[in-house]
Amino acid sequence: METIIIPINQNNIDNEAIVLASQFIHAHQCVAMPTETVYGLAANAWSDEAIQRIFEAKGRPSDNPLIVHVCDQEMLLKCIDQPLNDRILKLMEAFWPGPLTLVFKKSSLISDLVSASLPTVGIRMPDHPIALALIKATQVPLAAPSANVSGRPSPTKGSHVLDDLQGKIAAIIMADQSQVGVESTVLDVSSQTFAILRKGGLSIERLREVDSEIIYDDALIDVNVTPKSPGQKYKHYAPSKPMTFIEGNLLKQLEYLKTISLEHTLLISVDEIINELSGPYMVTLGTKDDFEFALNGLFDILRQSDNMPVTSILVTSYSEKGLGATLNDRLKKASTEKIIL
Ligand code: AMP
Ligand code: MG
Repeated sequence: METIIIPINQNNIDNEAIVLASQFIHAHQCVAMPTETVYGLAANAWSDEAIQRIFEAKGRPSDNPLIVHVCDQEMLLKCIDQPLNDRILKLMEAFWPGPLTLVFKKSSLISDLVSASLPTVGIRMPDHPIALALIKATQVPLAAPSANVSGRPSPTKGSHVLDDLQGKIAAIIMADQSQVGVESTVLDVSSQTFAILRKGGLSIERLREVDSEIIYDDALIDVNVTPKSPGQKYKHYAPSKPMTFIEGNLLKQLEYLKTISLEHTLLISVDEIINELSGPYMVTLGTKDDFEFALNGLFDILRQSDNMPVTSILVTSYSEKGLGATLNDRLKKASTEKIIL
């Protein structure tokens, strides 16, 4: 199929372009759209035909549910079958629109294809003018997983979507690079215990400022526990070369890296380490505590590594505080090996 490119300036949104994109959505087709987390592959959440197309284009396992994107509370209420209690309303007020997916008991309008037969559905309000304009224009909730081929690093630029999905989807809205650069944090609010099912663009520390009882789901603490978020069990974000995750404090990492040859290896690390070493292929993700900056550039460099003349990749761990926990999660999932120092 021919993939139509729809360029849109997010600071001056062209209504005709939004109308064109919404026509594809109403024709049960998939449209890649920018969001603040990563680019999403959007389709009408009420249409099984459209949802099927998302799974086919991505090669996504059918037991991996989709996040549904809404633009207001009225749309949210159509998707869920539980009251919005004070705890949930406070979280929505603090973090919506934004990189927080809330998992609710699903309404009968949400098909089993979207929820992968789970009794729950993940919902988010994206903090992006184009995504919100598209949902408003279509007047339907948009199911949208990351717009990459399953298993590959998530797309943070329109060109990444083009590389993965050209010829497989109806249209791509081309806009700026995604600001957050990593997927949303998934928080289960379908029972009394509010638990994080997937780490993402919002840290547990920030969530706890609003609701101090939020915890990590057991599966995020103990690898032997089956994850409640099905996507967690798959290999993700992987570049095509073998990648090793080096876990340890900065001094130990530096000591170790000084002992090995970096001639054919891409080292992805922080200023504090890269500045002390020499090698032909070294990329810094900024200073060791600038987690937001690192997340913003991470998936792009993982994709670029496919075209570099290196045989392997080394990445160094971050501290577990704040969004450092999300960085470590993505780096571990993208890696084939791990060295603990
Ligand atoms: P992606 O949009 O590609 O970031 O994938 C969506 C992620 O959200 C997957 O890893 C899912 O496992 C998770 N997710 C979506 N809906 C639910 C749900 N109802 N319960 C648990 N996890 C969910
Ligand atoms: Mg994904």
